[in-house]
Amino acid sequence: MVADAALRADLVVVGAGVAGLTAAVRAAEAGMSVVVLNKGRGWRPDDLDPGTATYFAQGGIAVVEPDNDEDSVALHTRDTVVAGAGLTDEVATASILGDGFAAVSTLIDWGARFDRGSDGRFLRTREGGHSVRRVIHAGGDATGAQVQRSLATRALSHARIRVIDESHAQQVLLSADGTAVGVRIGSGDGHTSDILAPTTVLATGGAGHMYRATTNPLGSTGDGIALAYSAGAAVADMEFIQFHPTMLYRSGVRGRRTLITEALRGEGAILVDVDGHSVTDGVHPLGDLAPRDVVAHAVTTAMARTGAEHVYLDARHISDFARRFPTVTAGVAVIGVDPSTDLIPVVPGAHYLCGGIVTDAAGATSIPGLYAAGEVARTGLHGANRLASNSLLEGLVMGRRVADAAIGRKGGAAPSNGPVAATELPIAPRGDLQNQMSDHAALSRDHIGLSSLAEYLQSAPRRRPRTATDHEDAALTVTALLVVHAALARKESRGCHHRTDEPGA
Ligand SMILES: Cc1cc2nc3c(=O)[nH]c(=O)nc-3n(C[C@H](O)[C@H](O)[C@H](O)COP(=O)(O)OP(=O)(O)OC[C@H]3O[C@@H](n4cnc5c(N)ncnc54)[C@H](O)[C@@H]3O)c2cc1C
Repeated sequence: MVADAALRADLVVVGAGVAGLTAAVRAAEAGMSVVVLNKGRGWRPDDLDPGTATYFAQGGIAVVEPDNDEDSVALHTRDTVVAGAGLTDEVATASILGDGFAAVSTLIDWGARFDRGSDGRFLRTREGGHSVRRVIHAGGDATGAQVQRSLATRALSHARIRVIDESHAQQVLLSADGTAVGVRIGSGDGHTSDILAPTTVLATGGAGHMYRATTNPLGSTGDGIALAYSAGAAVADMEFIQFHPTMLYRSGVRGRRTLITEALRGEGAILVDVDGHSVTDGVHPLGDLAPRDVVAHAVTTAMARTGAEHVYLDARHISDFARRFPTVTAGVAVIGVDPSTDLIPVVPGAHYLCGGIVTDAAGATSIPGLYAAGEVARTGLHGANRLASNSLLEGLVMGRRVADAAIGRKGGAAPSNGPVAATELPIAPRGDLQNQMSDHAALSRDHIGLSSLAEYLQSAPRRRPRTATDHEDAALTVTALLVVHAALARKESRGCHHRTDEPGA
């Protein structure tokens, strides 16, 4: 490894999705110099995979419009708290949701265009767990692409923002008194360098690639969790991994798979087993629009009952399907399915990390100078189970808040980092880790499976990570260990943590 000279900025942001770019743009517009680190290829309008979950988001953004008489922040908070199964922080939730409309309005000022009716009002759909239609969308089911496009365009044209693509954050740098002073990054050619700033924001997204198949992009490998935990930051609620009930079924295919948005069920699509019977009949009063954990378990129950490897989503009666759901149309065409005439084969898939790095209302972690926003953070909004379409909103709101915190910290003493120890880390081979996690720490868990998984992860060979893949595999191993220890400790079934050997909460 060759170490280059350090770069300095007022703010360093790790991650170029909704949370990271929102933070970067807001801070830069307040006069801050910002460095954004992105291990992905970077944004190009013609690139169909910029490496962020944000880009792939389909359903939309759950937001209360002030002039919608049917809705209120209190009702949105209630729905969120119900989905969170008793672990949601109600104060944090009401505050984040309450700031939602202002955050969306800023995004629109920055160039985002949402679908509107002929009266000029937002078109709104409904998703699981929402008691009213409050999910706004863009390009039909291409909401994330619109969010990514508008934020990236704004960030890339800003003179005070420097985006460094294909740069992999490997370590949070701490000063002698334990304050975060930046990050060490590696680039593909073996160089490392340090980015120093009074404020560091982790906005690295989720960790879906702990499992064989996931809706997440390739880079969702838990890096931010591992970076923060290794630096000594607190993490919580790691056992709550949300499985989306409807990921496209493809026999034996690993890695990222197409999501079949819940908005389809909001528009009347129904889940049926391979014999044509309803999957959710008698399971929950909200039927196919019950919270995700409920529907995902109904799907696996139906699969066990019929012996099939999937169930079907029947969306054949949705009119104008290809225009309203272009992303799903393109995704299922890959396996030769036309949703207007065919049933869509679906299975539950690893989708969202509800827990993460513990932050306060401003996004501050337990380490001074270190902030977290977006999917990597645990603000208390999601509790034991995220309400659909709350995460883009959380990224927008918390991205603004961490920027505001950084603005308040500008002009602190110029940071310098203490010595960086080159340590050996447990690194499990990715395929094995994914198999073990899928077998023992997915939708259903028990003490025996989790214990053997903990033993497997703890005995993973220790070595110094050298390549970007090594760093990701080390992050997956640390993140998986945190998930498994939390799942072992929670001796009850709650939200998206289902213990077959323990009762419901
Ligand atoms: C298929 C799909 C559909 C979804 N649909 C919706 C929806 O309709 N509504 C909704 O609210 N939510 C939805 N979600 C969830 C939502 O999209 C994500 O939770 C949210 O976009 C996460 O944003 P983020 O900024 O935290 O992370 P991301 O958008 O994932 O961005 C993470 C960034 O961090 C970078 N990064 C990671 N590690 C490193 C490292 N070590 N060094 C440097 N850079 C790093 C990545 O390259 C990337 O730029 C969906 C998710 C998926 C996968």
